[in-house]
Amino acid sequence: MKVVFASSEIYPFAKTGGLADIAGALPRKIASQGVKVFGFMPLYKTVDINKHGIIKIDASVDVKLNNRVYTFEVYKKIDDATFFFLKNDELFGRDYLYGPPEGDYPDNDIRFGAFSYAVMEFIKRENLNPDLIHVNDWQTALIPVLNYYKYNNHHVRTVITIHNLAYQGICDKFAIERLNLGWDIFHMEALEYYDKVNFLKGGIVFSSAVTTVSPTYAKEITYPEYGYGLDGVLRKYSNKLYGILNGIDYDVWNPETDKHIYENYCVFTIQKKSINKKLFLKEVGLKDEVKPLYIFIGRLAHQKGVDLIMDSIEEMSKMSANFAILGFGDREYNDFFKSIEGKYENIFVKVDYNETLSRKMYAAADFLLMPSLFEPCGLNQMIAMRYGTLVIARETGGLKDTVKDISQPDGYGFLFKNPTKEEFLNALYRAAELYNNKKLFENLQKKVMEIDFSIDSTARKYIKLYESLKYSREG
Ligand code: ADP
Repeated sequence: MKVVFASSEIYPFAKTGGLADIAGALPRKIASQGVKVFGFMPLYKTVDINKHGIIKIDASVDVKLNNRVYTFEVYKKIDDATFFFLKNDELFGRDYLYGPPEGDYPDNDIRFGAFSYAVMEFIKRENLNPDLIHVNDWQTALIPVLNYYKYNNHHVRTVITIHNLAYQGICDKFAIERLNLGWDIFHMEALEYYDKVNFLKGGIVFSSAVTTVSPTYAKEITYPEYGYGLDGVLRKYSNKLYGILNGIDYDVWNPETDKHIYENYCVFTIQKKSINKKLFLKEVGLKDEVKPLYIFIGRLAHQKGVDLIMDSIEEMSKMSANFAILGFGDREYNDFFKSIEGKYENIFVKVDYNETLSRKMYAAADFLLMPSLFEPCGLNQMIAMRYGTLVIARETGGLKDTVKDISQPDGYGFLFKNPTKEEFLNALYRAAELYNNKKLFENLQKKVMEIDFSIDSTARKYIKLYESLKYSREG
């Protein structure tokens, strides 16, 4: 079977969040199980082609759009899967993938629309003949639309994975003309969304299957509360909607081999985790390694429950505990956290995107905070557990599918239901109490390290889905 896999970010080439982790790991794992996979990503200015051994090939594609021609040069890298990078500096030679903290680039419809056309053109020109095209989130959601509507490849199956329904690629209706689409698909049953064009909706309608990244989120998004206006569409297509739990790449996230952490360890040498804690505290100027260390790593966005942390910060500063917060995101949150850098003796704050620091934190921490208001899957909690760090999370989406509260038989984490300061702080206090029971705490650290959150089983489920679509009748 041959599969094209398109994503706006693929680890380790470009990453702003979990999408990159999955889009990096999944094609490789699927390829290692015998499927031929071609990955596609825009070549951003930020991609270090020398470091990654990405080379230019003798090919280019022209996309006629918006009354002009966009030429994409083609770059390539072969490892387990073959990755193609499409380069157009006018569209992608910018400082950010989607836009600065103030907001998205205004021409994102053209940027990702042109990229989507370029992928389709390249597939055609190079006769890749895929059985299936798998796309991810709104940025590549136009590909299934083009595949069906522009290229008439009705035999080529398409899968769209929704990593986060909150981002849909909504733009004014004249995008229909800018993107060379026809007004015949600008209606409620296709791309139209309240008199605007909605990329993600197009992807949902035109794909053979829609997946999302955890079973709970697959259910949640069919309700108005989590549906971001698309719950009706998702209910309509619920017969082709699947929740497949994401996983993490155990080669990338492994405390035994991680070069960035202070001291490697595994479940049998868990005591060495404390060396990481000690050296991390020293590095960032926190004291008292006997106290529990809570960390937060993530996009500073409303979704991530950042407001709960902001509201609780005074109480946290009075706890007999240390905190380390690493995040970067929306301007208002960046500004708030910058304003408290160095303010509290027991709270280290860094407003930045820094993978090395994040790895040191996963290794050093006792508890990870994930108070998300919604969380399609969430990878931080899986990474944390792989590093022997217990998780404190809100009971939603993928967090509900991966964290079991300590009050349950075989529980190993802390869940709270309502996103209130009281419930959040209560979970922190419950964790602190458990931390004092050293024997139980260590047992749980070992236990979470041994739970299997690897992407291998995710890959197997996707291959099964691909197979079922390949053999299903056209519909
Ligand atoms: P998202 O909704 O942002 O995709 P996920 O939990 O699915 O959230 O994935 C987040 C990924 O991004 C994890 O690998 C996490 O370690 C990483 N990450 C998030 N913010 C930062 C940051 N400020 N610095 C380093 N890594 C980060």
